[in-house]
Amino acid sequence: MSYILNLKNKKGWIELITGCMFAGKTEEFIKRLRRYQYADQNIIVFKPAIDNRYSEKEIYSHSRMNIDAIPVNNSDEVKKIFEENDKIKKIDVVGIDEVQFLDEGIVDLLEQFASNQIIVVASGLDKDFKNNPFKNVDKLLVSAEYVDKLTSICHKCGGNGTRTQRIVKGKPAKADSPLIDIAANEKYESRCRHCFEEPK
Ligand SMILES: [Zn+2]
Repeated sequence: MSYILNLKNKKGWIELITGCMFAGKTEEFIKRLRRYQYADQNIIVFKPAIDNRYSEKEIYSHSRMNIDAIPVNNSDEVKKIFEENDKIKKIDVVGIDEVQFLDEGIVDLLEQFASNQIIVVASGLDKDFKNNPFKNVDKLLVSAEYVDKLTSICHKCGGNGTRTQRIVKGKPAKADSPLIDIAANEKYESRCRHCFEEPK
C-alpha cells in the first residue's frame, strides 16, 4: 500500500462560502476569518465598495458581527493594496466578501494567491434574482478546494430556502430590472425551489 505525501506544510487554498441571501454567509465568513486571526495569521479583508449597507470600512452581518474590511472598486485595487500590505507583513489569509460584485479579474487573482501559499476565504451569492449563476462565484464553485453552500428558510413555506426573490411593490421584480441594485427600494426574500417565482 502506498501512502500519499503529507502535504500539511503546503498552505494555500480557496474556501468558498456561498448560497442565497439570509443564509448566514457573512456570519460564517467573519467567524472563519476570526479563527485565523486567533491563530496569529495576518489577514486582510476586502469588500466591494458598492456594498456600503452599514459601514464604509467594516463588514457587518445581519446579526451585527463585524470585521474590518477595505472597500475596493475592482480587482486591480485588491492586487495593489495586497502588495503594499504584504511588504509590511507577510499576509497569510485574504478574505473577500460579496465577490460577485467585483469584475471577473478577481477569480484569477484569488487563484494566484492560493497558488502562492495564501489562504483565500471568499463569500458570495451563487445565484442572482433571476436564478442565474452569479459571475465569479460560478467559477469559484469549480476551483475552490472547500465549498460551503448555505441555505436559509423559505419565506413562504418554511422549507429549505436556496433562491433569492427580489420583491418590488409586493411582487417579484421584472426580469429586465438591473442585476445589481443594492440601495433601491426593493426587498429580498429567500425562497425554496417551489415557491420561487421566475421573474418575467
Ligand atoms: Zn417554499
